[in-house]
Parts: sequence; structure tokens; C-alpha cells
Amino acid sequence: MVLIILLVAGWALPGCSTNPATGKTQFNLMSPASEISLGISASPQFLESYGGEIPSATITQYVAALGQRLAAASERTDLPWSFSVVDSKTINAFALPGGKVFISRGLLAKLENEAQLAGVLGHEIGHVTAQHVGQQMSRGMVVQGLAIGLGIAGSKSNEQWLQTLGVGVQVGGTVYLLKYGRGQEIEADILGVRYMSRLGYDPQAQLQVMRILQQAAGNRPASLEFLSTHPLPQTRIKRLEEHLQEHYAHGKDSATYRTNAGIFRDTVRANLDKLPPPKHGQKATDKN
Ligand SMILES: [Zn+2]
Repeated sequence: MVLIILLVAGWALPGCSTNPATGKTQFNLMSPASEISLGISASPQFLESYGGEIPSATITQYVAALGQRLAAASERTDLPWSFSVVDSKTINAFALPGGKVFISRGLLAKLENEAQLAGVLGHEIGHVTAQHVGQQMSRGMVVQGLAIGLGIAGSKSNEQWLQTLGVGVQVGGTVYLLKYGRGQEIEADILGVRYMSRLGYDPQAQLQVMRILQQAAGNRPASLEFLSTHPLPQTRIKRLEEHLQEHYAHGKDSATYRTNAGIFRDTVRANLDKLPPPKHGQKATDKN
């Protein structure tokens, strides 16, 4: 309820501001306090619906530590960032506003090195720093009209509002299903590359992740949830290739970029192999 009041109160503000990550003027009715509140409230629900955290403290701590270093290299170091590995066979990663980032065990198992993991986490951090959810929800509120916003405030719970973030939900007769647009995906790719390269990771790894996902989509499209929430058209790959060529190919640092394949193998691969089967994503009834 507190969140809804904040959102509705936000309506009175002009809603236009300059985003610190993209430098663009954006329309966003969600205040930083609302983003944080939303992320904290929605986080347990997301964790639960994806099988909870994987039962490996080593992997959990490794991913969280890398995520925190990337977040510290971003423009929004003030957020309460957290990074979780969910015990799901599906291949996905997602982020809630306010800095709650999740990667599935299924996606982690597809990656080959630390730089690729930095690419995935950096991309999700990019969605948060660029405030993509706030912009989408703000636009949705405008399309639906403030009346519906008030209707939600009056009759729907905070929980139901939160579901609009990633799970389809019936709100005021409209199903909201959050899916990033192509422009937002490209923006998150570019921001992800920025953060990982600041830590010395090879930006080419971001491109390798896309190829891994494409290949996985060819083999087992049903488990590739990532591509339904993060569209990967050919134009996105092309745009990233151009960006890397333009900004990272000729830098004097390119020879010193690292991938940390050995650390990744010893920490993630070796421990994943020891775990029991994932709790989520095995049954046909699980979301995927
Ligand atoms: Zn994305």
C-alpha cells in the first residue's frame, strides 16, 4: 500500500528526468524510493517461484561478489543491490527495480567463464540503472489512465501490483506482461559491456553469451525463457558487434582483458556438478 501511495503521489511530479546511466531524458513516474520498495517486496516471490536459491554457498557467494563489484562500477551505487542464483533449470536472468538481480542455474550452466557471467549480470544491472521497468510501467499507467491506477490502489494488493513486473497478471481487465523492447535490450547490452570492461573483463564475452543463447534456443527452445523476456533479434547482435568494434576493438587495454575461465570452472562448474537436480523447471507445469 505504501508503494501505491508513492506511485500515485509520483503522478503529480512532472516525471521527466535525466537518467544517470544513459544520459537520456526519460519519462519515469517511479521514484528511487518506489523502485527500492518494489524490488524488496517482490524479491521473495520471485525467488520462491523459481525454486529458491541453489543449495551451494560457494556458487551463491561467488556470483553475489561479482555482481556487487559490477554494481559498484555502475552509476547507481546507492541501490541495495543483491544477486541470487535461483534453483531453476530454465535459462533466464532478470532484474527487479531497485537492484535485485537473479540468474537461473540453467543459464549459469551454459556459461564458460567469469567474463560471460559478468556480461549477463552487467546486462541485468543495465536494465536497473537505465530504469527500464519504471519507464515501462509509467507508460502503461498513461495508456491505461490514472483512473485504473487509482482503481488498483483501491482494490488490489501491493502483491498484485508487484506481479506486473515479470509475471502476467490481470489488472483492471488488462494483462500486463513485462517484456523489454529491442531498444531497451540494446541499451542494457551496452551498459553491461561498460560495467564489465571497467572491471577488466573482455567485452567480447557479451557477444559470446548471445551466441550461446542462440545455440541453446536451437536445441531446446522451451527452456529458453530468457529470449521471451529479453528479445534477441539479429539486429541486437549486430548493434553490439558494431559497438564493440567502435569502442573496444582498438583500445590499448584489449590485450589485457581477462575471462577467468579457470576460476569459473573451479567455482561454478565443479560445484554445479555436485548439486541435486534443480527444484524448478523440470515439470511441464513449471513456468518456462
Ligand atoms: Zn535484457
